[in-house]
Amino acid sequence: MTTTTLVSVSASKKNTAIRTRFAPSPTGYLHVGGARTALFSWAFARHHGGTFVLRIEDTDLERSTPEAVQAILDGMSWLGLAHDEGPFYQMRRMDRYREVLAQMLEQGTAYHCYSSTEEVEAMREKQRAIGEKPRYDGTWRPEEGKQLPPLPSDRKPVIRFRNPLDGDVTWHDLVKGEITISNRELDDLVIARPDGTPTYNFCVAVDDWDMKISHVIRGDDHVNNTPRQINILNALGATLPEYGHVPMILGVDGQKLSKRRDAVSVMDYLDKGYLPEALLNYLARLGWSHGDDEVFSMEQMCAWFDLSHLSSSPSQFNPEKLGWINNHYIKAADNQRLADLVHPEMQKQGAIFDGAPDLASVIDLMKERANTTLELAQAAMLFYRYPQPDAALLRQHLTDLVRPALQAYAQACETIVWEKAAISALMKQVLAQHSLKMPQLAMPLRLLLTGQVQTPSIDAVVELFGRETVLQRLAVLKD
Ligand code: GLU
Repeated sequence: MTTTTLVSVSASKKNTAIRTRFAPSPTGYLHVGGARTALFSWAFARHHGGTFVLRIEDTDLERSTPEAVQAILDGMSWLGLAHDEGPFYQMRRMDRYREVLAQMLEQGTAYHCYSSTEEVEAMREKQRAIGEKPRYDGTWRPEEGKQLPPLPSDRKPVIRFRNPLDGDVTWHDLVKGEITISNRELDDLVIARPDGTPTYNFCVAVDDWDMKISHVIRGDDHVNNTPRQINILNALGATLPEYGHVPMILGVDGQKLSKRRDAVSVMDYLDKGYLPEALLNYLARLGWSHGDDEVFSMEQMCAWFDLSHLSSSPSQFNPEKLGWINNHYIKAADNQRLADLVHPEMQKQGAIFDGAPDLASVIDLMKERANTTLELAQAAMLFYRYPQPDAALLRQHLTDLVRPALQAYAQACETIVWEKAAISALMKQVLAQHSLKMPQLAMPLRLLLTGQVQTPSIDAVVELFGRETVLQRLAVLKD
């Protein structure tokens, strides 16, 4: 007796708890729009100490390859959007769907329909011809006192949901406000095909019910599915979740993001040198705001995210702003982490690491201006390739006036203490002794050490290269 009471108390508690879900259909990659709704669902669950469920809607067998499923999991894990339950796979829940279908047939909220595809098409044609919205005409829908046609022996039936004929479906959308759809607009939806496999909206409704989802946050391309799912949930006697439909993300040109033109896959951003925390921060601001805050941590977002301040109009993807945010996170990131990220790219570019400066220290010097880790890798290459200064530039900067000063500089480099203060004192001393201005010495020094005329502060560059390399590269002055 006591046990029963305890079970029911904890079960009813669970029903009121905040439970959100991300329910992607694998397409081969995690779309940035999907990642944003996942982020909103995740942050809302975290905000309330709730549960974030991951559900893979893999009933489209052609698209749901193991690789496509893995791409979703990889994207989520790169972003750090950890689920608390799942992943649940719809394909593994077929028995449960069949069970619910049987229950609905028995309760009369669903029925077998033997109309053939051709017959359904013909009835739609007829309705279109008289200006009516095409819909199933209810031939096989059981009604009190209605005589159904004789069962065809050569045909397997579909199962249709017995949608209410009158009234409206109304919900208060958490993003869009009140939405009302008349039941007259809704067909008796096919919820199982002739081979018994359940269809999309039915599976979603059963899953949201079974998984006790309290808040469905998803893209507004699903608004039309919501009244159908609500009707099914009502027929099942389920508690309805709240719904929030987030407007889509548009490209810079105001058009829908396109796979061909835009980087739509989350993993494209990894390849392009973005940090996951930067992408998350950027996505958070697409369609949601917290005052004027642009840069914030996920801890802050979870503390703030309560579904208020979601925008009901589409947001536009701005690559420049993403670059700016990424730069912020690159500057804040640990140097060794960045070094590990740029190393493979530098290897591709032929970096010579042997005898070269410590990469983390180079990163520390170069990260200030990098918008991506690819740019950072490119900038860091300064220290990892053999310098080949342009001969004309060298003639221009390494004049007879400058040469003795550089020779003196090189000679002193043999003995000074190798640290920033001493290196910069040496520079000042040589400039004063030879009555030169900084660029007159720094330019040829840059060319000889790096082959470039643009580098960070020359003292920092000299220090990082180390005494041995500096002396080696300045040895040409002795000729
Ligand atoms: N599987 C759907 C999609 O990837 C989402 C379904 C839902 O969130 O209800 O678009």
